[in-house]
Amino acid sequence: MLADTYGRVATDLRVSLTDRCNLRCTYCMPEEGLQWLAKPDLLTDDEIVRLVDIAVRLLGITEVRFTGGEPLLRPGLPGIVEAVAALEPRPRISLTTNGIGLGRTAAALRTAGLDRVNVSLDTLRPEVFHTLTRRNRHHDVLAGLHAAREAGLTPVKVNSVLMPGLNEDEAPDLLAWAIEHDYELRFIEQMPLDAQHGWRREGMITAGDILASLRTRFRLEPEGEEQRGSAPAERWIVDGGPHRVGVIASVTRPFCAACDRTRLTADGQVRTCLFATEETDLRAALRADADDAHLAEIWRGAMWGKKAGSGLDDPTFLQPERPMSAIGG
Ligand code: SAM
Ligand code: SF4
Repeated sequence: MLADTYGRVATDLRVSLTDRCNLRCTYCMPEEGLQWLAKPDLLTDDEIVRLVDIAVRLLGITEVRFTGGEPLLRPGLPGIVEAVAALEPRPRISLTTNGIGLGRTAAALRTAGLDRVNVSLDTLRPEVFHTLTRRNRHHDVLAGLHAAREAGLTPVKVNSVLMPGLNEDEAPDLLAWAIEHDYELRFIEQMPLDAQHGWRREGMITAGDILASLRTRFRLEPEGEEQRGSAPAERWIVDGGPHRVGVIASVTRPFCAACDRTRLTADGQVRTCLFATEETDLRAALRADADDAHLAEIWRGAMWGKKAGSGLDDPTFLQPERPMSAIGG
C-alpha cells in the first residue's frame, strides 16, 4: 500500500507522459512555451509500463490517469495504454487531454483499453478560446469531444477553468451545452501552478462565484458526501437530475484530507501532491537496475512523507518550481 502518516492511502496514480503542449493556456504556460525536458530524461514507454506495473501489482493502485503537458503528443500512447490494460490486476485507465487530435485517435485508444477521458474546454466562443489558449483550435476540441463520446470513452468529462474578464460569465452556457451533449462538466478553480507565477488569490474566480453564476439559471442541490468519496470534485444535482455539475475547489475548499493520489512525472519523479516542493527520483534507481521490490520501497517511502495539506493557506506557501504542465495536472 502507498500509505502516509495521516492515514491516507493512495490508489490513484497520475502519470505525466510529456511536458510539451500544442496550446499555451494563459493560466498554465507563457506564450513562448517552456524549456522542455530533454528526450534522454524522459521515461521510455517501457519504463513507464514497468513503473505502472509495480504500482498496480505491489502498491495497490487501481486507477491510472495519463496526463501532461498534452498526452496525445506522446507517439507511444496507444501502446502504453494497451500494455497497461494487460496488467494484472487491470487498473481503470483514463486520460486528461486538451482534445486536439482526439477526433482521429479516440476509437483506437478505446480499442487499446482506454476507459474514459477528461477533455479540457474553457469556452464555447472560438475567439475567447484563441485568447485563452493562444491557438485557433476550438473546432478540433469540439471534434475530439464528439469522437470520445462516439467511441464510448464515457462518461466524457469536461474540465473548465474560468478566468476573470475572459470567460467568467460562461458558467451557465457551458452547463447548458454540456447537458445537451451528455458531457459531465466540472469547473476547476485556478491554482498557483502557472509557469509565469501570474496567479493572484484576489483575481481568481472562486467556487462560490461559479455556483452563484450557475444558480442564476439552474437549481442545484448538493449530491452529498457519501457519493463524493475521495473525488476532488464536489458535485451538484442540476434541476432535479439526472445531470450533475462538479466544482474542484482546490483553493477555497481544499480536499487534502481525503486525497488518494500519487503522481509520476514524465522524467520519473514521484510527487506526493501537485503542490509538493520535494520529489523522489525513481528514474535513477530504475536505470541503476533496481529490482521491483526496491522500486516499490522507494515509492512507499516517498508517500510516507506526504504532507497533510497543500499549504496554500499558509503565509509561507511557496509555489512549486515545476509548473502544472511539467507535474501533470
Ligand atoms: N493538456 C491537458 C489538458 O489541458 O487537459 C492535460 C494537462 S493540463 C495541466 C490538466 C488540467 O489542468 C486541465 O484541465 C487544465 O485546464 C488544468 N490546469 C492547468 N493549469 C491550471 C491552473 N493554473 N489552475 C487550475 N487548473 C489548471
Ligand atoms: Fe497545454 Fe493543458 Fe497547459 Fe493548456 S492546460 S497549456 S492544454 S498542458
